[in-house]
Amino acid sequence: MLKGKVALVTGGSRGIGAAVVRKLASQGADVAVVYAGSEEAAEAICREIREEYGVKAGAYRCNVADFAEVKQTVNQVKADFGTVNILVNNAGITKDGLIATMKEQDFDDVISVNLKGAFNMIRHCTGLFIRNRGGSIINISSVTGIMGNAGQANYAASKAGVIGLTKSVARELAPRGVTCNAVAPGFIDTDMTKELHDSPLAASIPLGRMGKPEEVAEAVAYLASAGYVTGTVIQVDGGIAM
Ligand code: NAP
Repeated sequence: MLKGKVALVTGGSRGIGAAVVRKLASQGADVAVVYAGSEEAAEAICREIREEYGVKAGAYRCNVADFAEVKQTVNQVKADFGTVNILVNNAGITKDGLIATMKEQDFDDVISVNLKGAFNMIRHCTGLFIRNRGGSIINISSVTGIMGNAGQANYAASKAGVIGLTKSVARELAPRGVTCNAVAPGFIDTDMTKELHDSPLAASIPLGRMGKPEEVAEAVAYLASAGYVTGTVIQVDGGIAM
């Protein structure tokens, strides 16, 4: 279904991003896996999808928060794969703390990776999408960006920002045939949420369990080939934010 398409997935080395890489590759897409530090994991997933699905794959170390580094990485991916058709902005971090004591650096770091990182990637891939007269941008937001969450003001602001970014880019690039959507996961079982398993928040999920990375990847794969859907936010959250 995605044969001949090139996907760039940020944060593809672990968690939700790794599930997205596997899912898109299973549908035939070639995949550029962007990671921050987990070189071994990124190389391993590239090997895995090459062997399993016969697609092309490459790992790229890049701090998505760095405008110049992102430009260089997108240029390298273009040189290696020819273009980018699907951009999944998934890289993200948390630096939780109460607002009364949150460090300025923790606010800046979370905004830089989660929000500016998505901007940087979109900014540098848009020329390719315009040239191709099409493309799919999928940004990973969070239900926290919709509902807010005590102790996560920086994270919630970044994820609400991602929704505003998504809708503006969707409007701006629609005339070019480019779609831009967001997925807002609830509590998904990854490294990011290892401490949440027994929390009251996890207990309040209507479907009664945390989500799996593969369940988020399903929504990403849908948006990657849904030509008449743009500017939406798909919640994959077990009902927590209804
Ligand atoms: P995770 O397991 O902690 O993985 C984070 C990924 O982002 C890793 O691949 C990491 O690369 C990469 N990354 C972090 N900082 C980066 C940077 N500066 N530049 C490039 N890559 C960077 O997280 P996850 O739970 O899979 O979350 C993935 C996305 O879903 C995030 O945007 C997160 O906010 C969002 N989300 C998660 C949940 C949840 O419950 N898990 C819920 C809602 C939304 P390295 O491996 O190299 O460090």
